Amino acid sequence: MKPFTYALAEAPGDAVHQAERGARFLGGGTNLVDLMRLGVETPDLLVDVTRLDLDRIEPAGEGGLLIGAGVRNSDLAADPRVRRDYPVLSQALLSGASGQLRNQATAGGNLLQRTRCVYFQDVTKPCNKRRPGSGCPARTGAHRDLAILGASEHCVATHPSDFAVALAALDARLHVKSPTGDRRVPVTELYRAPGEDPSRDTVLEPTDLITGIELPAPGEVTRTSLYRKARDRASYAFALVSVAAGLDRAPDGTVREVRVAIGSVAHKPWRARRAETALAGRPATPEEFRRAAGVELDAADPLPDNAFKVKLAENMIVEALTRLAAS
Ligand SMILES: Cc1cc2nc3c(=O)[nH]c(=O)nc-3n(C[C@H](O)[C@H](O)[C@H](O)COP(=O)(O)OP(=O)(O)OC[C@H]3O[C@@H](n4cnc5c(N)ncnc54)[C@H](O)[C@@H]3O)c2cc1C
Ligand code: SF4
Repeated sequence: MKPFTYALAEAPGDAVHQAERGARFLGGGTNLVDLMRLGVETPDLLVDVTRLDLDRIEPAGEGGLLIGAGVRNSDLAADPRVRRDYPVLSQALLSGASGQLRNQATAGGNLLQRTRCVYFQDVTKPCNKRRPGSGCPARTGAHRDLAILGASEHCVATHPSDFAVALAALDARLHVKSPTGDRRVPVTELYRAPGEDPSRDTVLEPTDLITGIELPAPGEVTRTSLYRKARDRASYAFALVSVAAGLDRAPDGTVREVRVAIGSVAHKPWRARRAETALAGRPATPEEFRRAAGVELDAADPLPDNAFKVKLAENMIVEALTRLAAS
């Protein structure tokens, strides 16, 4: 591992000031330190942000919740308000990694974890995300786990976070501090499409510190919600495809509000807005759910070894919404 300097930040302002010198923020370290060991990440300075006063879950404006960026994944999944009002979020967190990792991983770090594409993690191989312009061996090599939506010829990586998929379905917003001020970033606008330059995963600058994640006030569509994840092993595995869904039905059984986000199919949590639009006001039936899933997945452009994800995603959307309609 390349030598680096370590600094403990005392306050968010202090952290972004130190990061101006060219650094990485250190949350739980469960992704960053692994990538440093592999030589993928080579920061000169690590700014430890775990002692900042960002480890609480508090009421936010208009009845929502503000999750501090330093809240550990286990604590967030177990919070009674999250379990009651946003079950999709608790289930997504509990489906990720292992108990030990969830005890260590932070909310902010989870969102900015990097792709699990095997070529990205192997510094002996070309990879446009790690070294722009070097090529994308995944297109002709190992791409079974990779993207079917929104990819480009330069990169077909997926974002691995389960948490981010649930947050995209909940219309959550990040609170971000930078050296020039504070701003809000919707999770659905956080991640970049790979386009010609996949080296930048998000719209954040290296000096931007996530201080919190704001959940809007709960409603029927967030309380009647769930997370489903298909993976190769029952635990301790990233998703092949995942679905975060919420459903609110009118008394006559039609769809009043629906949320669908799909994970592990794109460079970002894929908010299925076309499916949502196709379902508005329609009967909440499996036939309608399948029709809407088809509308969304018409845009899929899979590679030979991940074409199975198209049908898998369709089936998972139908299954998730059918369960919610029956609950
Ligand atoms: C074996 C294994 C299995 C896993 N399985 C899953 C899984 O199934 N699903 C899943 O979703 N995840 C999974 N993970 C990933 C795990 O969830 C992430 O490693 C973890 O959430 C990252 O959080 P962290 O706090 O440790 O981040 P760190 O490793 O500390 O940081 C990750 C990135 O975020 C940046 N960062 C950290 N905090 C902030 C902040 N406040 N503001 C701005 N930038 C920040 C860092 O600079 C770094 O770039 C797995 C990991 C392992 C090792
Ligand atoms: S898919 Fe993206 S991350 Fe993977 S090798 Fe290609 S450029 Fe690199």
